[in-house]
Amino acid sequence: MKTIIAIIGGGPGGLTLARLLQQQGAQVTVYERDRSREVRVQGATLDLHHDSGLLALEVAGLTEAFLREYRPGADYTRVLDNQANIIWEDGDHGKEKEAYRPEIDRGPLRDLLLDSLTPGTVVWDSHLQSLEEMNGGWQLTFANGSVAYADLVVGADGANSKVRALVTDIRPFYAGITIVEGAVTDSRHTIPQIHEWLHGGKLFVLGDEKSLIVSSKGDGSLVFYTGCKTGEAPAGPWNDRDAALAWFESTFQGWNPAWADLFKNASLPLTIRPQYCMPPDQDWTSRHNITLLGDAAHLMPPYAGEGVNMAMLDALELSQALAAESDPAAAITRYETGMRKRAGEIARMTLEQTEALHSPNGLQHLVSLWKD
Ligand SMILES: Cc1cc2nc3c(=O)[nH]c(=O)nc-3n(C[C@H](O)[C@H](O)[C@H](O)COP(=O)(O)OP(=O)(O)OC[C@H]3O[C@@H](n4cnc5c(N)ncnc54)[C@H](O)[C@@H]3O)c2cc1C
Repeated sequence: MKTIIAIIGGGPGGLTLARLLQQQGAQVTVYERDRSREVRVQGATLDLHHDSGLLALEVAGLTEAFLREYRPGADYTRVLDNQANIIWEDGDHGKEKEAYRPEIDRGPLRDLLLDSLTPGTVVWDSHLQSLEEMNGGWQLTFANGSVAYADLVVGADGANSKVRALVTDIRPFYAGITIVEGAVTDSRHTIPQIHEWLHGGKLFVLGDEKSLIVSSKGDGSLVFYTGCKTGEAPAGPWNDRDAALAWFESTFQGWNPAWADLFKNASLPLTIRPQYCMPPDQDWTSRHNITLLGDAAHLMPPYAGEGVNMAMLDALELSQALAAESDPAAAITRYETGMRKRAGEIARMTLEQTEALHSPNGLQHLVSLWKD
């Protein structure tokens, strides 16, 4: 009898795994809490790396679909000081394979993965509430009252994973930086100055131990996120424009007033994201019928641009381990051992990067990193 596999979470990691497992003929269902695929996928654009995100898409047979959907030119990067002086810029990351980091918006990435799955693979409106061991597998209970059974569960349910507690007692720690994230529609007309600076790509603005990252998106909007050491819960309220603007103007005092246009024009509410990280040296004893991937396994701040790439590489390595081992327990042990080591090294580098970008020399650090 075939192993029934349940993936909790239809983010990039969970959907990539579903695709790779279906290519192997596995019986797999993705349970996703979003009500439908029409729910707008928010967030900054993602740059995929040749040895992780792009590799997973290639093995999944989705390179052509990716090439139809990525945004050429969106990797144009400018580093600015807080007065909006351009300190460094680079529009040609395509020179060498290692430096090739094409950008794709989250929505199109999700769509191309969804379109690659057998119809009905994703069960929407399935917010996992609890898991109980049953008959050697798991009974899953969802917020809408439905239940399901699986022999093997993969927690791909992101930063606040419910599945994580069944695999490890280790919890994420606060990494010292809190993000305030927002989006501005039709940036060409609403904030033409920043739109022009963006040049269809990304801005990294650094100074005073703070960061502001702005990304253009294919639908004409832009997404921005500030990063600073304000504690886990900076004052809001974040659905109140005056309060949000007052917070920005006092926290980013002395910055070019043009940056405040982001807060004056952003859709409300803004999103507050205290940045947590799983310890780089985490370890646990693998279980035979449940595992984790992506942010659920190794949450880290976004300052090295590795999160989605690691999630998709996890999916590839887990699918390969399940194909190589006839015993799922051996496959999980093999996958988790490699995944923890790899993700630990990336998490260490990411924490160093997070600290360096929010240090007094953040600007010089980034420029010297990218110049070399
Ligand atoms: C501001 C910001 C900028 C970022 N920029 C980058 C970047 O440039 N490059 C990069 O590589 N990474 C970036 N990241 C990180 C990246 O977004 C994540 O690492 C990546 O999305 C992880 O993928 P995932 O599939 O593991 O989890 P997620 O993308 O979080 O997906 C989890 C899915 O599970 C669903 N879910 C959650 N709980 C449940 C539940 N109980 N039941 C059912 N479904 C559930 C969610 O709805 C979601 O669809 C950024 C993150 C942030 C916050």
